[in-house]
Amino acid sequence: MSSSPDVLVVGGGPGGAASAFWLAKAGADVRLVEKKRYPRDKTCGDGLTPRAVKQLIDMGFDLDADDVHRISGLRAYAGDLTLELPWPRHTIYPTWGATLRRADLDMQVAALAAAQGATVDDGVEARAVVADGRLVGVDLVVDGAVERITPRVVVVADGSLSRFGRALGTHRRRDFPYGLAVRGYYASPNSRDGFLESQLDIRDREGRSMPGYGWVFPMGDGTVNVGVGVISSFKGWKEVNTSKVQDAYLAQLPDHWAIGPDSELVAPTGGKLPMAFSVGPKAGENWMLVGDAAGAVNPFNGEGIDYAYETGRLAASYVVEELADPGSGRLRAYARAIEDEYGAYHRVARAFVIAIGNPTLMRALTRVGLRSRPLMEWALKVMANLLEPDEVGMQERVYRAIERVVAVGPDPVIRS
Ligand SMILES: Cc1cc2nc3c(=O)[nH]c(=O)nc-3n(C[C@H](O)[C@H](O)[C@H](O)COP(=O)(O)OP(=O)(O)OC[C@H]3O[C@@H](n4cnc5c(N)ncnc54)[C@H](O)[C@@H]3O)c2cc1C
Repeated sequence: MSSSPDVLVVGGGPGGAASAFWLAKAGADVRLVEKKRYPRDKTCGDGLTPRAVKQLIDMGFDLDADDVHRISGLRAYAGDLTLELPWPRHTIYPTWGATLRRADLDMQVAALAAAQGATVDDGVEARAVVADGRLVGVDLVVDGAVERITPRVVVVADGSLSRFGRALGTHRRRDFPYGLAVRGYYASPNSRDGFLESQLDIRDREGRSMPGYGWVFPMGDGTVNVGVGVISSFKGWKEVNTSKVQDAYLAQLPDHWAIGPDSELVAPTGGKLPMAFSVGPKAGENWMLVGDAAGAVNPFNGEGIDYAYETGRLAASYVVEELADPGSGRLRAYARAIEDEYGAYHRVARAFVIAIGNPTLMRALTRVGLRSRPLMEWALKVMANLLEPDEVGMQERVYRAIERVVAVGPDPVIRS
């Protein structure tokens, strides 16, 4: 058995890299292992909201680099209605977002963690060693060779499938929303556009509309990231072929993107989005979940990068306390902190997602919404989680209102 770090972080995406960054910054002995080699790709829309940008600023990320494309807001479509909304002013968050390819973003954040003193090893897969239901060690596998270590704490940041987490007994709540999304890259002369674009009324080839949205995210380098995502709150969602929805979406993109049959650069690939903190338990005696492994994606907009950074940072603060006072139960306190921080917001989001599972209501909401700039400005604030602290009470009021709508709407149950 080789020498073990105090903390092992499993997975080098946003959740793992942020955990390692904040742990190392606090002086902890931390090792991050990523099973792929950097730069590694991750199927994603590559969109960073002001919340995510704030986390990157806090970690000292170079946001002036050439590959970072700045975004000033959201352009929303529903059918032929359209509205351009700048990011709202906020006392904590910047008024700009960004796009950046995940291969570059994730490698650079891992490098920031290493610069703080974390040991970052790519090409290393971690496997949980469990005895009598307890995590008693971790096998690190490199080119078939196995090294067993016994860290004091393991931060599980292994993404949406979370095999490491499942080995510890975690499971996803099937009655919580779940997203399926697909994206590809296309050449576009408009790739320096300053707005994220989303189409709120997406349909399959048969013309059936479904909850979710299509997006075009300009990358600033001659390419755009185009994708669609659907949410599990409607009948028949399991049968949806997201690639076909993507084809239908591509066929009706606005002309300003100038995307045609020959524009495809990288064929679409798909992925899963576990939402609303649907995975638990969030922590055990010597481990905790962050990011997608905890189901941290925001059901309102499918954003997961920021919540991986935020939960990674939050987890790090509890690990530091546990290391200073072993056996004090601080890891389980992290699970309660997640509920305190995000519980009310996600209750609203879940109610909203159930409401839009009713296609008639979804169409009505988007069409009414897009005719009202003040309503959409407010909706953007809620959906991107950019309310000011003194506006947060509004979430509960929205929740009550949506609850009433959902209670009378047909078919309000999420099916899995
Ligand atoms: C099509 C699509 C579009 C999306 N678009 C956006 C978007 O525009 N903006 C946004 O904010 N979010 C978006 N998301 C969500 C976002 O991609 C995720 O929420 C985010 O990547 C979560 O980060 P993470 O660190 O938890 O997991 P991941 O980024 O998945 O990282 C997990 C890492 O763990 C590694 N790993 C797994 N198992 C092991 C193991 N046993 N040992 C070692 N390493 C391991 C993996 O290789 C991986 O690198 C999108 C998702 C999809 C599917």
